[in-house]
Amino acid sequence: MQLVLPTAPAPPGRRIVVLSYGLGADSTAVLLRWLTDPYSRDFDLEDLVVVIAQTGDEWPETGHLVEKYVLPLLRRHRIRTVQVARTARTKTEAGGCHYTVIEDTRTPTRCHIEGVYRLSQEMLDSGTVPQTGGPRLCSIHAKGEVLDWWISAYTQGRPYTHVVGFELGELGRRDTDMRLGKLPGRQPEYPLIDWGWWRADAIAYLREQTGVTVWPKSACTMCPYALDGPNRGDTVARLIAAPRLAMRPLLMEHTAVALNERQGLIAGRRLAWELRSHPGGPGLLAAFAAHLDEQEWAVWEVRRALLRRADGKTRAARSLTTIVRGGRQEMTAALERVSARLGIDVERDGPHRRVHVARRQAAPSVEHAFVLAPATAQEKTSKPFAKMWMTALAEVDTVDRQKEIRL
Ligand code: SF4
Repeated sequence: MQLVLPTAPAPPGRRIVVLSYGLGADSTAVLLRWLTDPYSRDFDLEDLVVVIAQTGDEWPETGHLVEKYVLPLLRRHRIRTVQVARTARTKTEAGGCHYTVIEDTRTPTRCHIEGVYRLSQEMLDSGTVPQTGGPRLCSIHAKGEVLDWWISAYTQGRPYTHVVGFELGELGRRDTDMRLGKLPGRQPEYPLIDWGWWRADAIAYLREQTGVTVWPKSACTMCPYALDGPNRGDTVARLIAAPRLAMRPLLMEHTAVALNERQGLIAGRRLAWELRSHPGGPGLLAAFAAHLDEQEWAVWEVRRALLRRADGKTRAARSLTTIVRGGRQEMTAALERVSARLGIDVERDGPHRRVHVARRQAAPSVEHAFVLAPATAQEKTSKPFAKMWMTALAEVDTVDRQKEIRL
């Protein structure tokens, strides 16, 4: 893959139309209709730029469909097609993220779903899973910020039409997008909503145009939104049908749960639990157990400080360090030794093992545990941790404080 620099600005004196192309049914329907029906748009195709933010975790089937049905049309009409992605977990000095342009061409042939720094890698590095509830931070980081970065470089603050493929069932997301989309010059448009199309209309249109029975909704393979809702059964069945692909979401969830028992890919519930009751699920779990045995493992020391904010919500900071690394059996024995030394039993939670020194309570509180987990995460102590830990520790129950002192 060739990595290239951001972009030259939009040509002067021309209208600027940018489509955030998410690869799913909705934005594909917009794009195909524009390309095949000139009366559906009010601009020249020469002024259109299609921008794709690659998370690195899109379903391969989606990439194949885009390469088969969409990219040939973009080539035929010589539509400028730009694929962008994040390149690192770390922030820039200015506090932003690192991005790159994977490809910028009028003759696209490949949909680079492999991305660069994959969202799943960020989750594995952090020892967590994408979260539901609150803003979709994963999407903001892996898609929104990357798109904004490229679009800002391209438009240079000039007025532009920013096209997003929300359909009639997504009025709430449209309202959020209108509220939060603050780039200078941005004039958002939602053609599917203007046309009065629901997702079913987009899918029917794509069926008519391409013969694809149901164009899939774009999503990461580990997307918690795809796993929590009416599409859960389909998403789980897709994972069962693609066992090699499923190892990554399962590993991500296993590590996240080991480090924090409240985690799980289905809005805090575990995908591993869900799989037990699906045809083919136990077989996938058996394959995953073997996959786990092949990982490097560690005994991790996990500490969390939880304080109450002025608005009543909880503020948390975490410190994650490894005590020792090695094979799974060796690390299981190492955790037993930690347990014996502290005089605290090893707790069993399915395949997970933890030695809890201090349990999390309502804030202010501290959590302190030694846990067995794959060594996929990176050691990290967040900046405010030390101060928050001392503050929280001063306020927790005396018994827990004595345990801390004993350590
Ligand atoms: S598809 Fe799901 S996991 Fe991927 S960025 Fe969007 S919300 Fe996050």
